[in-house]
This record gives sequence, structure tokens and C-alpha cells, in this order.
Amino acid sequence: MNEFLPFVRPHIDEAAIAAVGEVLRSGWITSGPRVQEFEKQLSEYFGGRPVRTFNSGTCTMEIALRIAGIGPGDEVITTPISWVATANVILEVGATPVFADIDPVTRNIDLGKVEAAITPKTRAIIPVYLSGLPVDMDRLYDIARRHKLRVVEDAAQAIGSNWRGKRIGSFGDFVSFSFQANKNLTTSEGGCLVLNNLDEARLAEKYRLQGVTRSGCDGMEVDVLGGKFNMTDIAAAIGLNQLPQLEAITARRHQLARHYFATFGADFEKQTGVQLPMADFRQSNWHMFQIVLPEGIVRAGFMEKMKAHNIGCGVHYPAIHLFRLYRERGFHEGMFPIAESVGRRIVTLPLFPAMTDTDVERVCAAVREALKN
Ligand SMILES: *Cc1c(COP(=O)(O)O)cnc(C)c1O
Repeated sequence: MNEFLPFVRPHIDEAAIAAVGEVLRSGWITSGPRVQEFEKQLSEYFGGRPVRTFNSGTCTMEIALRIAGIGPGDEVITTPISWVATANVILEVGATPVFADIDPVTRNIDLGKVEAAITPKTRAIIPVYLSGLPVDMDRLYDIARRHKLRVVEDAAQAIGSNWRGKRIGSFGDFVSFSFQANKNLTTSEGGCLVLNNLDEARLAEKYRLQGVTRSGCDGMEVDVLGGKFNMTDIAAAIGLNQLPQLEAITARRHQLARHYFATFGADFEKQTGVQLPMADFRQSNWHMFQIVLPEGIVRAGFMEKMKAHNIGCGVHYPAIHLFRLYRERGFHEGMFPIAESVGRRIVTLPLFPAMTDTDVERVCAAVREALKN
């Protein structure tokens, strides 16, 4: 029997382990020089825009909404196919989530449906780039401009992706990234926000640490209600190790994704009824390789069969509006049929840089087996 192949394994090298050891021995293990250096390098990476780090992608988005002044009475439009964090942060600031159905091909929010969902109460859009595939960014920002809406990009999965050659994060309004363990660049847990100016960056610093501003050697003032969301130097040391490797990580993910397409073969969709992901090798960072099973194949059964082949699969994601927390707020089956259907059938196959081409072939063979009868 082959060794167990998980759907993701973080890329941590000996240099990252040594860098963490160095922080632990330094006597300064919370936010300090590594965080500052990581923010500086991220800012360079994003074309000089201000960047602040946090301890999760979730609080990063929540803080962006707070900086934008979004709260009770405001509506925020987002996709039903995302990690539940994307919608939870809207509730967390007291605003009202409004969902727009997805495009079945990209599996991202359908911008035509976003425009149809705008009301006088709409204040912001949170698009998600599922698997790292961006939406039509020109159209997104055109909608935002025409309706005077803020954008909080949930680019949690999109570090290393681009739109027409421009890095995601190097343009736009607020752009939020996650460095959670499964992401292309990880700090174990963490996130960062790309902001528009230093006023926003200063506000972000307050929100991440109890609203505190320090001055002189003993001055302290608190004028906003902040929380506890700072990144540690332990996490930043891992990020500093990963950032220079990001290009190579993305390139390897592209190779593996191409190998999936080549191994499944051109007729795979016709033969099996499975929908492969969009074959985009220009903009996506290939954060995940996701297939949508045909109607009539029970996903849990399929995943059990994959597990019997010692292959782990993921589910990213069930439709958010069908969770009880959201049903209790009036959402129900039938409201976003494409998201509901995709949410029941989508499966994430293994994809991470340390995988071999042979691993991909093993997964493809197991998928074909698991689809039988
Ligand atoms: C990972 C992820 C988040 C949340 O990030 P955390 O760092 O886990 O808080 C939000 N949205 C999407 C789309 C994600 O993939």
C-alpha cells in the first residue's frame, strides 16, 4: 500500500525551522523586528503599498471592514462558496451579509449577480478568488466605482496570483491574505492586509492591539476599541523564509496542475461527467485543484473510496448560506442554486509543492476507480 497522501502539506524547510529556533532563543517572541521586516518585504512585494500583518486572515478582513466604517445597517455582498470566515466577518461587525450566486465555470462570485444585488444599503463587496483564480478585476472595480462601494478582497488563497500581469494585492482597495497552514505561503497562522494609505495603516495598527497609540517613552492613548490580533515574530520568521520561495512554489504548483490535466486526458470530462477546474495558467496560483463530481455520485462515498486508496481529499466549501447560523437569518435552499449544487459536489484533490508527478498519476487513477459504479 502506498503511503498516505494528504490533500495539502505545508512547505517548511530546515532554514525555516532554524529561523524559528533563533527567534525562540532571542528573548523576543511576540511582535518585534521580524514582523517589521516581514511587513517591509510584503510591502515591496505588493508594489510599495502599505501592508500590516495580523494573526489570521479572518481578523484581517474584519479589521478592513472596521477601517471602512462598515457596521449595523450596512449590507456587504459576498459569495456563498468560500470558507465561512468570509461571511462571518460581516456578521462580526454587525453588518448584513448578502450573497450573490457563483459562476459555474470559475466557481467565483458572478459579478452580474453582484450588480443585481446592490441596494441603497450596500457598502462593500467581498470577492473571493477560489483556488487562487481571480474574478474579472476590471469589472469588479468598475462596479465598485459606479456604485461607490468599498472592496475588501478576500485574497486568502491568491498570494502569487495576478490579473493581466499585475500581482493581486498590488492594486485595488483593501486586499486581505491568509497565511494559515494550508495556504501557498504560510506562517502557521497569520494574515496581512494591503491598504491604501498610512492613515488606514495606523488605524489597522490600533485595531490589532487594543486601540493603543504610544508616544514618547511613556505616553499611551486609546481612542478606538481594538482587539488582540498581532502577528508574532515566530510566525513572521516563517513568512520571511517563505516569501523568497513563493515564485518557485507557484511554478511547481503550475507544473503539478498541468500534470493533472495531462493525466486525466482531454476526454475525461466527457467520459465521466466530472468538471475539472478552469485551465488557467496565466493568472491563478493554483492554490487548489478542485473537481466537481457528476450528479448522482455521493461525495462522501467518493471520498471514502479515495481514502481506501490512501489519498486524502478536502471539501472547499459547502455553501455558507445553508449553515444553521445563516438559515436562522432567513437564508434557505433554492436561493443560490449553482452554489448549492457545487457546494455538494466539489472535491479538492491533493496539490502541494512536495508532491511528485507520480503522486498526481496515483490520484488520477484512484479518481477513475472511485467514480466506477
Ligand atoms: C483561509 C481562508 C480564510 C481565513 O483565513 P484564516 O487565516 O484561517 O483566518 C478566509 N477566506 C478564505 C477564502 C480562505 O481560504
